[in-house]
Amino acid sequence: MPIAMYPGSFDPVTRGHLDIIRRSARMFDKLIVAVLNNSAKTPLFTVEERVEMLTECCKDLPNVEVRSFNGLTVNFARQTHATVMVRGLRAVTDFENEIQLAHTNHALMPGIETVFLATSIKWSYLSSTIVREAAHYNHDVSKFVTPNVEAALKRKIEEGKA
Ligand code: ADP
Repeated sequence: MPIAMYPGSFDPVTRGHLDIIRRSARMFDKLIVAVLNNSAKTPLFTVEERVEMLTECCKDLPNVEVRSFNGLTVNFARQTHATVMVRGLRAVTDFENEIQLAHTNHALMPGIETVFLATSIKWSYLSSTIVREAAHYNHDVSKFVTPNVEAALKRKIEEGKA
């Protein structure tokens, strides 16, 4: 059974991401949730904070490991022996970017296959951007994120960072 990797920014992790994690953890022996430390973007949460939140959210999933990485996802996949990339597809608007990414990863590392999971309808509108925006304007985000993430968002708002 191949090792799978679910890469992303997770800034912060939403219930939509967690749905993909739970479903793919049932499909593979091991799933690495890979948190991108992207120097080109200024995230709301540091990579350490994002890893900590995800680790807390996945603590009941023994075959899920949360790690951070820099640089190209395929290089991190090679390093961790992952051969499958899991990505979530929300709507047709995700498709263009995702197919380009899947082809690029395959061209860079032919052993890599990308598996797309269709989002659960319930979370098909949800994104980290929406969560950050809603929290910024003091909306209740408990529907979108777990309590630890909600608390972390509140702290950022209090610090004036969100
Ligand atoms: P990236 O910056 O790589 O797009 P994200 O953290 O936004 O990172 O998303 C990581 C993956 O999770 C992507 O494949 C994205 O399509 C998927 N995803 C994001 N939000 C949802 C959601 N609500 N339901 C299912 N998949 C999602």
